[in-house]
Amino acid sequence: MYELVQVSEDCYYIESPAKIGLVKTGDDEVCLIDSGNDKDAGKKVKKILDANSWKLTAIYNTHSHADHIGGNRYLAVQTGCRIYAPGIECSFTRHPLLEPSFLYGGYPPSELRHKFLMAKESDAILLDEHALPDGWVMMPLPGHSFDMVGFRTQDDIVYLADCLASAETLKKYQISFIVDVEAYLSTLEAVKAMKARLFIPAHAEPAEDVSELAELNIAKVHEIADKIAGICKASAVFDDILKGIFDDYGLEMTFEQHALVGSTVRSYLAWLEGSGRVRSEISDNRLIWTAV
Ligand SMILES: [Zn+2]
Repeated sequence: MYELVQVSEDCYYIESPAKIGLVKTGDDEVCLIDSGNDKDAGKKVKKILDANSWKLTAIYNTHSHADHIGGNRYLAVQTGCRIYAPGIECSFTRHPLLEPSFLYGGYPPSELRHKFLMAKESDAILLDEHALPDGWVMMPLPGHSFDMVGFRTQDDIVYLADCLASAETLKKYQISFIVDVEAYLSTLEAVKAMKARLFIPAHAEPAEDVSELAELNIAKVHEIADKIAGICKASAVFDDILKGIFDDYGLEMTFEQHALVGSTVRSYLAWLEGSGRVRSEISDNRLIWTAV
C-alpha cells in the first residue's frame, strides 16, 4: 500500500484503498487527485512528496466521500496547497457532517459519525474549468455521488473516481453506493464509450479499456432494480425491502450498512417510481411500495 506507480511521463497513482492520483504540472510541482482516507494517508502522501522533492500545489477532489477527502486537511496545513471540489461535493467537503446526515436522513447517531463516513472538514474552493492545470479536461460523472467528476490529464490519462466497481467488489458486496440511478446509468454509458491511453478507477485496476467493466456495472444496476421491483410485488415497507435485498444477496446488516445500502435502495425506489415500475402510497400511517 501507498506505493507510487508511474503510468505516463507526468501521471502517477498512489496505491491505497481509494487510489490517489498524482500528476506533475511543472518541473518540481505536482497536484493530487483526491487525498486518501485520513490524516495517516496524508502523512504517507507527504513522505512521497518529500522523497521526490515535489511541491504540492493543489488537491482536486473528485467527490466528497471520506476515503477521497480524508487527507485534505493534513496536506493543506503541511504544504499550503489549495483544495478544489466540484458542485455539491464542495459543500460536503467543507461541511462533512452533511454526509452521515444525508445517509441517515436526519442528525446522525454516533454510529455514523466516524472517520469512514465523516472526514475532517477542509477549506475547499468550488472547482471550475479555470482552476484546472493546463491541458486537463474535467468530466462530469454524476450518479455515485451528486456532482462527482473525473479528469483527463495533459497526456490522456483518465482518472475515473468511483464510477466503476471491480468485478471482485461487485461479487463480494453486490450493491455499489449510488445517489442517482438514472445519472449513474448515463455516466456508465458515457464511460463505456470513452477512449484514453489509460483509465484509472479509484477502486479497480487501471486498464486501457473499461467498456466491459462498465457493462458489468450497468448489468448489476438492472439486476438490483429488478430484485427491488420483485420484492415490491407483495406490497412492502422500506425495511422489509431492505431486508429482502440483504437476505437475497446473503449480506450482513450492520448499522453502517443499513445507512449506506439503505440510502442506495431509497435511490433505486425513487428511480423505479419515476419510471413507473413501482408506486408509493400511505396506508395505515405507513409508506407502502408496490410494483405496478
Ligand atoms: Zn465514493
